[in-house]
Amino acid sequence: MNERIFGQRSGFKVTPVSIGAMRFPRDVNDAIALIRHAIDSGCRYIDTSRGYGESEWILGEALQDGYRDKVILSTKCAPWITKIQPDDAPTADCVRRRLEESMRRLRVDYLDFYQVWNIDSREHFEQATAKGGMVDGILKARDEGLIGHTGFTTHDSVDNLLSYMDHIDWCEVILFTYNLLNRRYAPAIAEAHKRGIGTIIMNPVGGGRLAQESPVLLDLAQRTGAETVPELAVRFLLSHSTIDTILCGMQKKQDVDDTIVAAEKGAFSTEQMTEINQFLNAIDEKKADYCTACRYCLPCPENIDIPAVMNAVFDHRAWGLEESAKQAYAKIQGPKADVCRKCGVCEQKCTQHLAIMDAMDYAVENLAE
Ligand code: SF4
Ligand code: SF4
Repeated sequence: MNERIFGQRSGFKVTPVSIGAMRFPRDVNDAIALIRHAIDSGCRYIDTSRGYGESEWILGEALQDGYRDKVILSTKCAPWITKIQPDDAPTADCVRRRLEESMRRLRVDYLDFYQVWNIDSREHFEQATAKGGMVDGILKARDEGLIGHTGFTTHDSVDNLLSYMDHIDWCEVILFTYNLLNRRYAPAIAEAHKRGIGTIIMNPVGGGRLAQESPVLLDLAQRTGAETVPELAVRFLLSHSTIDTILCGMQKKQDVDDTIVAAEKGAFSTEQMTEINQFLNAIDEKKADYCTACRYCLPCPENIDIPAVMNAVFDHRAWGLEESAKQAYAKIQGPKADVCRKCGVCEQKCTQHLAIMDAMDYAVENLAE
């Protein structure tokens, strides 16, 4: 795989496919073999976390026998996600304890990156960057030579992220969600890239939704010369000059190999991206049908979880994601669309003026078992 600059700030280069270490195969030996296979195939950056179960321990084993020197190793923590001890807090002292613990688990004496895990609100950002907070602790560890670099991962709003950009000189990489189905972080990714911050993408196949059968997406893939929808998804991301690398899940060898093969086919041509963007613009226009999950329509007198139904209908109707939409519909708790008595109360309150009653009919016809 051809290397890309991993943001001007870090000074690293990175291959376009990286190792997302949230889940591994159950069997430890299988997991180690898979991690080493990914590294041997060219993956360099590894994203793990103290909160990813046994991930750090397994990586500690996999990175023996010279593998540690072949990778850019990153782990992270956040007391608002995983409290390892009851008194864990977003402080410099706590982050130091977690960092040293992660280094023991990973069996390393140096980490290339140690990051703040999931800044997903202004409150978290302020806690992490306060005097004596997590970032201070991380920078102290960097000054002492325990780590080399830092950054953060996020699910925060785009507006918040853009407002942080003038205040994150310490940040060298950011991990965002971005894929064909969810492109809302595009402005934040572009701004980070412009400022020399490395950009990493999680969920490149939409949490597996883009691996589900979709005649609509398969047609788009074929029109753009991609053999499969996952290939379309990967090459779409790598056609963005603002994206440096994507995390590949480590469940099975085939996923790793397919992602690398897709990446090696390279970016789409300008014409192919135009085709994709026209398709996405048409989907965006259908956002007239897109529920923002604001929940202003609730409560429904029949206790239907209206936003959950609306999103399953949208995935089915707009994206052709028939299987995942049916699965999402089946998982909805409580009464479903079949008990809708067409009272119309929800439509009067809907902020997007959606045809909710029509969507309830669509759900009964297309999503119910
Ligand atoms: S129209 Fe149906 S979904 Fe809407 S509030 Fe009435 S019962 Fe609930
Ligand atoms: S008010 Fe409309 S947009 Fe908001 S959750 Fe309900 S259906 Fe969705």
